[in-house]
Amino acid sequence: MRARRVAWVHVLLDLLFPRRCVVCSAPGATVCGACTTALPRLAAPLCARCGAPVAWPVARCRECAGRRIAFATARAAVEYDDRVRRLVGAWKERGLRDLGTLAGTVAAEVVPRPEAGWITYVPPDGDRSLRRGDHPPARLARELGRAWDLPVRSVLRRTRPLRRQRGLSRDERRRNVRGAFRAGPVHGRGILVDDVYTTGATVSAAASALRAGGASSVDVVTFARAVRR
Ligand SMILES: [Zn+2]
Ligand SMILES: [Zn+2]
Repeated sequence: MRARRVAWVHVLLDLLFPRRCVVCSAPGATVCGACTTALPRLAAPLCARCGAPVAWPVARCRECAGRRIAFATARAAVEYDDRVRRLVGAWKERGLRDLGTLAGTVAAEVVPRPEAGWITYVPPDGDRSLRRGDHPPARLARELGRAWDLPVRSVLRRTRPLRRQRGLSRDERRRNVRGAFRAGPVHGRGILVDDVYTTGATVSAAASALRAGGASSVDVVTFARAVRR
């Protein structure tokens, strides 16, 4: 009920006030041309496994070495800096569809298409999901499925509600998401999509469920990625 009221407030605000860039507040597009150009796209050299930017090409980096990771590779389009945080925040909280289109376009432009037969996404959390029109990971998967000519399969389910990952340490995050997903039957190589890669705990747990469901290998693609400097 409260969520519906919030959605109406946004509709009214959009009618009363001209649109502004969610990053810099310039009037006009949902994300202005200058901010679109300035999105911090991630480029090589990257860690071959987890996609962290590194000084020279490595098979495993400081961030992922020695960790058990259920996905084969992870790649992201842009660094999760303050500007991108504002963009993703608006996308999640307000369900702005233009942002899904933009995220899909930038991800297809930056991330090379993994060799795969299907694409899926991290499913929404029961109560946090349905009240908003656009579930960003599903939307991004649809955009990438179109760009890469791959079928989107909604095969992942949550087995239980999760504590919010925000504010948890890496180990706490891993414990929080362990066994949190179940996958319907799948086979062959697939792509798993999420909006933001923070520590990789969520996508690793989801990839683990996909492999238990029959996937031979899972490549992760996200719109943004936290980068430790
Ligand atoms: Zn802007
Ligand atoms: Zn790495």
